[in-house]
Amino acid sequence: MSRIAKVAKDTKWNETITSKTAKDTKYKKTTMSYAMRVLKETKERNPAQLEFHQALTEILPTLEPYLIEHRECEEAGILERLVEPERQLIFRVPWIDDKGAVRVNRGYRVQYNSAIGPYKGGFRFHPSVTLDTIKFLGFEQTFKNSLTGLPIGGGKGGSDFDPKGKSDREVMAFCQSFVNEIYRHIGADTDVPAGDIGVGAREIGYIYGQYKRLTGLVDGTLTGKSISYGGSLVRKEATGYGLAYFTEQMLTSLKTNFKGKKVLISGSGNVAIYAAEKVCQLGAKVLTVSDSNGYILDPAGVDLQTVKLIKEQQRGRISEYIKHRKGAKYFDKGSVWQVPCDIALPCATQNELNIEDAKELIKNKCLTVSEGSNMSTTLEAVHLLQKHNILYAPGKASNAGGVAVSALEMAQNSSRNYWTFEEVDKKLKIIMQNIYMHVSETAARYGTKKNDFVAGANIGGFIKVSEAMLQQGVT
Ligand code: NDP
Repeated sequence: MSRIAKVAKDTKWNETITSKTAKDTKYKKTTMSYAMRVLKETKERNPAQLEFHQALTEILPTLEPYLIEHRECEEAGILERLVEPERQLIFRVPWIDDKGAVRVNRGYRVQYNSAIGPYKGGFRFHPSVTLDTIKFLGFEQTFKNSLTGLPIGGGKGGSDFDPKGKSDREVMAFCQSFVNEIYRHIGADTDVPAGDIGVGAREIGYIYGQYKRLTGLVDGTLTGKSISYGGSLVRKEATGYGLAYFTEQMLTSLKTNFKGKKVLISGSGNVAIYAAEKVCQLGAKVLTVSDSNGYILDPAGVDLQTVKLIKEQQRGRISEYIKHRKGAKYFDKGSVWQVPCDIALPCATQNELNIEDAKELIKNKCLTVSEGSNMSTTLEAVHLLQKHNILYAPGKASNAGGVAVSALEMAQNSSRNYWTFEEVDKKLKIIMQNIYMHVSETAARYGTKKNDFVAGANIGGFIKVSEAMLQQGVT
């Protein structure tokens, strides 16, 4: 165990340190460590934001070894400022459906942290979206964006609007109304949104079109654009491909690779499809994909052309897959994690892999779990996987390829230039390899468990942001 990690372990929970409270500005003694105190206070200040609490609980305690080494962070109130978004916008989004009825949704943009660059993070359109969801995603995004090594701050936005089952005209009406408010707050050098769940090429097109109409600007304010109007090659594939590149590094550390491995993938959206594509190119077989209604198991290997047809063109349900492929089965109960596998890639949504799923993966001798979705795994499932020495990569590291290529799209837009598919793919691969090295080296230095990629990613992302905040004064 490293010296620092040992100090951190010994002093965790019961260290008596001098700290400044938010209530009075006098220094006083507390028996709680800095990170634990900020965790407690932030949960109390944000009651009922359970996903945000989960992200805080996953991140803040792991920063302790670094905070003990860097007392200046506490003196400058870095954590207190880091957990509080710089700005939170909530707005009404009225629109008219195909029957002529007035509908109202709620829009959000949380501009979390701009210490190292303009706010950057996607819009999510899904009925489950609340301020809680957007805050947890924005907080995580701040660390993820820092890990990419590129100059991008953290933000996230979205709406409780559900694009599923809506006509193209309805989606356009909603997107235009959404932009009528948000256009004032975004910009190529201030806040650069992209897609996420429910926001793909169609939605980005409508959002960009209305943004351009209102501002008169043709610029890089949005990423994930189509190639015909300023998008980057590989952006569509980036999160999934990046996940495969990151997982390849994990497998190399176990002295193996993708060849012949059985892979489980959840979801059948953007991240799932392109993660599947790349792991197949690397020699693996994908056995499953899913959507919010159920999952399919194809023992011969999932046929991606069929999944693309159903999901990208027909906007259908994954249950339709079995009409195209003999031997495949559809299940509307249970989860993909029950299927024996070597590698698990959750690519649907948060908390989709729980403790029971983790037990199944352990029983089936799974080697690695790498998150394509954000916060895919519940906290107790993470702890169990780590306890059983299953290599676990948190999304902020393993799914950072999407935002990394978004930053490359920004660079191409600023320079009025285009790079080839091969150029961008090569850059993506190098970025993912660098993130892996940074995370694993930071884990070795500060982690309290073997291969603690959670600590490695959290501290690895925190260092650059906290240094920038320290240098910029109390802002
Ligand atoms: P998509 O909307 O393209 O696909 C989402 C997939 O997950 C769909 O198959 C969807 O099924 C399923 N899903 C969504 N919500 C649920 C739910 N509550 N329960 C079960 N299944 C669900 O989104 P993306 O592929 O873009 O995003 C997937 C994940 O990856 C998200 O966590 C996102 O934050 C994360 N991510 C995405 C990035 C990107 O570049 N797109 C970048 C980094 C992270 P259904 O169609 O039935 O809703």
